[in-house]
Formats: sequence, C-alpha cells, structure tokens
Amino acid sequence: MGRLAGKIALVTGAASVPGLGSATAFRFAEEGAILFVTDLDGEGAERTAQAIRDKGGEATAMAHDVTSTDAWDRVFDAIVAAHGRLDVLVNNAGIAILRPFAEFTDAEWIRQNDVNLHSVFYGTQRAVKLMRQVGQGGSIVNLSSVAGIIGVPGCAAYAAAKGGVRLFGKAVALECAREKIRVNSVHPGMIMTNMQNDALRDNPEQYEILSNMIPMGAFGDPIDIANMNLFLASDESRYITGAEFVVDGGLITA
Ligand code: NAD
Repeated sequence: MGRLAGKIALVTGAASVPGLGSATAFRFAEEGAILFVTDLDGEGAERTAQAIRDKGGEATAMAHDVTSTDAWDRVFDAIVAAHGRLDVLVNNAGIAILRPFAEFTDAEWIRQNDVNLHSVFYGTQRAVKLMRQVGQGGSIVNLSSVAGIIGVPGCAAYAAAKGGVRLFGKAVALECAREKIRVNSVHPGMIMTNMQNDALRDNPEQYEILSNMIPMGAFGDPIDIANMNLFLASDESRYITGAEFVVDGGLITA
C-alpha cells in the first residue's frame, strides 16, 4: 500500500521541470495518490500528468491561473465531478519578483502578492469548504519559503507574500483543527528548480557563492521538498497542524 493510497490530491504550479510542483506530483503518484495537476502553463501540466500516467499512475491536468477565482471554481468543479472529494491540496504555484523594494512598481507588488498569497486564500477556502462537506478531514500544504521567516534583502514583496502564507495557514489550521483538516507550511531554502535557474541566469558566479552560504554546502533537490510534502499530505502527520517545516540544508540556522 502506498503512503497516499487512494487519496485525491491537487498540486498547483505542477508544470515546471525541475520544479517543486512536478516533483511533488511525481512523488505523490508513486505513493498511490490520484492527482490533479494544474498550472498557468496547461501544456506543461499535461506533460506532468502524462509522465505520471506513463508510469501507471492516475493524473488529470488542467490549465489554471491561481490568481483567477473562476479558474479555481473550474478546477474544483472538475474534482467534485470526478471524485466528489479532495483529500490533499498543495498550494505550490509561485513566482519570485526580486529587486530592491524602492524600485518595485505598484503593479509588480500586486502581481507578486496575487500569485503567491491571494491564490493561497482562494485555494484553501475552496478546499476547506469541500473537505467540511465530505467530513473526512484533509491536508493542506502551503509552499512558503525561508523568506517567510527571516528578512532577505531584495525579497520584500516575496517575503510579504510568503510570511502571509505562513500566518494565514496557522489561523486557518486553528479554525479547522476539530474537523481534522490540517494546514501546514513548508519553507524551502535554495532548491535547484527553474525558479532558481531563472534567478541565476544572469549571475552564474552567484551559484558558488550561494552554495557556500548553505551549511550543507549545496542547493537542495526538488525531491527534498517533495518528500516533506508527502509526509504532510499523508496520515503519518495526522497530529500536526499549524506548523512550519524548514527544508534548507541549515541555511537559516547558521
Ligand atoms: P518554478 O518556477 O520552477 O515553478 C513554478 C510553477 O508555478 C511554474 O510551473 C509556473 O508556470 C507556475 N505558475 C506561475 N504563476 C502561476 C499562476 N499565476 N497560476 C498557476 N501557475 C503558475 O518554481 P519552484 O522553485 O518549483 O517553486 C515552487 C514554489 O516553491 C513557489 O511557491 C516558490 O515561491 C516556492 N519556493 C521555491 C524555492 C526554490 O529555491 N526553488 C525556495 C522557496 C520557496
């Protein structure tokens, strides 16, 4: 029996490879979850779903802009039509607009918070309503960041969103605890995905500098986050809610 056998799981931002959403979806499928994988990049989401099906798993892809409440409604309608319930939501989709805060335009500030924070409210509220209706509990895993815990220069808007995700989740966790709907946040350090590739493209020498800042001496791999998400999605973490999990090779302990 897989660790997520028979659980219906929705992972957003699951197109990017290497990315935390696709790695999570692949890992969940290995453990028996039935996946809905969504992304702004609908074709990329379909590639993730096809890769899961090629290995004998079950996955449905949908194009889904997490800033659109209509798009969230379409995704939840599809999940209810197919399965009548949702056991796990991973709010993973995100972007990083990094620059000194004084240079931020209002539009960039709003976009950063729309994609990384408001989306988490839209998804979590819909998931909680459905989980309450079904009455079997559930697990919501929100991707925050170490930048949601400590101050990082150049990350003001990103940090506002990720810090918001962290405390939003704790409040919701307390409102839902009696119903066994659990909400936890995961705080990656520097993990080698397309998001980091994009950030390092213009400054490849930064890779060495950043790696040396990490106590364990290297960037993390998407599987390191996928395994944490798996634990939080599974019943192994059934007594854990409102908690935050740092996966950073020791970065913010140093
Ligand atoms: P990534 O850029 O590799 O993948 C992000 C995915 O989100 C992409 O497939 C993209 O198309 C999708 N996306 C972007 N905007 C969207 C929207 N409006 N609607 C739907 N999908 C959208 O990034 P990643 O590194 O895999 O990051 C995943 C999550 O982890 C993000 O929330 C990110 O902030 C967080 N995180 C990543 C790191 C890291 O080092 N990689 C560190 C801390 C936190």
